[in-house]
Amino acid sequence: MTRREKAILKRNIFLAVCAVIIIAVIALIVYIISVVGSDNNTESSSQQVTSSEINSSEAPSSSEALSSVESSASNATSSKENTKHKLDPDYKNLMLVNGWNPLPKDYDYEGNLTTIPKKYIKGSLTQIDKDIWPYLKAMLDDAKAEGIDIGVWSPYRSYATQKWLFEKQVKKQIANGVPESEAEDKAATIVARPGTSEHNTGLALDINCANHSFAKTKAFKWLQENAEDYGFIMRYAEEKQEKTGVIYESWHWRFVGINVAHEINDLGMCLEEYIEYKK
Ligand SMILES: [Zn+2]
Repeated sequence: MTRREKAILKRNIFLAVCAVIIIAVIALIVYIISVVGSDNNTESSSQQVTSSEINSSEAPSSSEALSSVESSASNATSSKENTKHKLDPDYKNLMLVNGWNPLPKDYDYEGNLTTIPKKYIKGSLTQIDKDIWPYLKAMLDDAKAEGIDIGVWSPYRSYATQKWLFEKQVKKQIANGVPESEAEDKAATIVARPGTSEHNTGLALDINCANHSFAKTKAFKWLQENAEDYGFIMRYAEEKQEKTGVIYESWHWRFVGINVAHEINDLGMCLEEYIEYKK
């Protein structure tokens, strides 16, 4: 073998070794990409499951479904614990307002309100007591993260709004044949007189609607199981109408405080009975 032939052989061996190394590196890169890629695929397919579950559960609008998916993806592990832990379980508000406990004449209706962000609103009214808003927000966020179609229908109402609603209900009763002398009292079991509604305090709200069909929804079932953990009770139970003066309203939820809500539910009392019991 000549010197020149030896040199060519050496160069060919070197090129072959280089080619093997390059192929090995490319194979390694392809392998790494395929492993990482398959992890991503797993995540996105689980998100698709969440999304289709949400869509089939109560058919919220697509933007609501999207925001539910976003929040469940970003808060998947910590949302419930985090939001609950920031809430003070001892904070309470037992202000009693009903047909025979009106708000004082000099009550400051506008005194302690905040505006609820649009994404939580289902009706036209948007204000709530600012101290209870963190509790309501946590409840709505956690319910949404679990795929529940939930939103604020009617929160705080001014004296004027309550007056308008009450007068409308009186006219409805008269139109339904109730004598004028009885129409106001009948109307008051359905819509409180101005100054005697919990809505005037900003401590209560109607959720999703003000309609008896609400009792059949997943949102109602979720609230029955979870609302006390955020300080809310269903204020007007069917069996308590004599004590509350208000018909059964599955949609009307009142903030009392987390510990108090648990206690009231454990005792099976309405707020009127609980306040009497605590005296
Ligand atoms: Zn209500």
